[in-house]
Amino acid sequence: MKKIEHIYIHIPFCQTKCPYCDFYSISSNDELLKKKYVKKLLEELELYNDIIASDIKTIYIGGGTPNSLSIDNLKELLSGLNKKINVSKKVEFTIEVNPGSVTEEKLKLFKQFGINRLSIGSQSFLINELRTLGRTHTPQDIYNTFHTARKLGFENINLDLIFSIPGQTINSLIYSINKLMDLDPEHISAYMLTYYERTKFHKLLQNRKIKKIDDDIEGEYYDIVKEVFRIHGYDHYELSNFCKPNKGSKHNLNTWDFGNYIGLGASAHSFFNDIRWYNDNDVKKYVDLKFTKYPNKNSLSLQDKKNEFIMLGLRKLNGINLDKYKNIFKNNIFIDFLEMDKHINNDFLILNKKNLYINPEHINIYNTIVSDILLD
Ligand code: SF4
Repeated sequence: MKKIEHIYIHIPFCQTKCPYCDFYSISSNDELLKKKYVKKLLEELELYNDIIASDIKTIYIGGGTPNSLSIDNLKELLSGLNKKINVSKKVEFTIEVNPGSVTEEKLKLFKQFGINRLSIGSQSFLINELRTLGRTHTPQDIYNTFHTARKLGFENINLDLIFSIPGQTINSLIYSINKLMDLDPEHISAYMLTYYERTKFHKLLQNRKIKKIDDDIEGEYYDIVKEVFRIHGYDHYELSNFCKPNKGSKHNLNTWDFGNYIGLGASAHSFFNDIRWYNDNDVKKYVDLKFTKYPNKNSLSLQDKKNEFIMLGLRKLNGINLDKYKNIFKNNIFIDFLEMDKHINNDFLILNKKNLYINPEHINIYNTIVSDILLD
């Protein structure tokens, strides 16, 4: 069995909690806690030494806000990683950063330790929308972070964009898109605002303290996003992701391609050999943990596995590789999922020699199509 070639590291600390965010993170200035956390991350990595490949392909440090760690803690983490795994130049090594709070000194450190891809949490280029989202940075912070990163030699940069922000208009959306285009990043993640349960925004929506953009208008906004990025030469390769040629996120593609990965840190999930496991959402518990392997483990049933393959694969605009399905499941996809024929006939799905994918004209209704196909 092939060993794990993709590593995710979760840094669950943020300056403040954004009201729409459902990632696990806490607002903390406790440097000692962060120091212990980094130490435990490296211990956890060590624990899975036997299933991690010597030649890894991607590392992704996400959060939370990874750059909220101090220089010393970041050094400890990055030098520890470099000692334990082979971080060659071929590895796609990403870190998420927040504009405004990431300093030039930290960006230099990232470069020095082999990080070659930055994901900048820009979200919007209008101050009032950033404030609605509870973000602490300004549009100027985005430009400063981006230009500093370029100056230091980062040639692979993702910018995040959120659309359907309460109060957003077509004009304000186009303004942000144009500002983002001026920066000319290699990759864009453009997400429609989601009101996840357990977030402050969800509560505000329920109490009618916030007004959600209508569903029809959200669809229009998504169409605008897709069209403008297409005109500027970006490949729409996954529901929410756009890239310049060959700049798709290898780390995320592995997940959508049903590949193995290991997640380290509080709340991180892993998938290997049909087993999923995850760490609890609890930093304080994590730092005191006496690690055992595969916490909260569950094996996927055959049907769950097939469903996940379809659900993840159809997120990609080039869809599912039919030979791969046959190799893994030893069966014909159209026999396993009888509703697929219907969606090919009604033009929602397109079948070519190798792949089955959602008709790009109908990608807005991915959820409807996929939930109709999947089996219990
Ligand atoms: S900075 Fe990012 S991870 Fe932290 S609360 Fe805001 S959206 Fe969530």
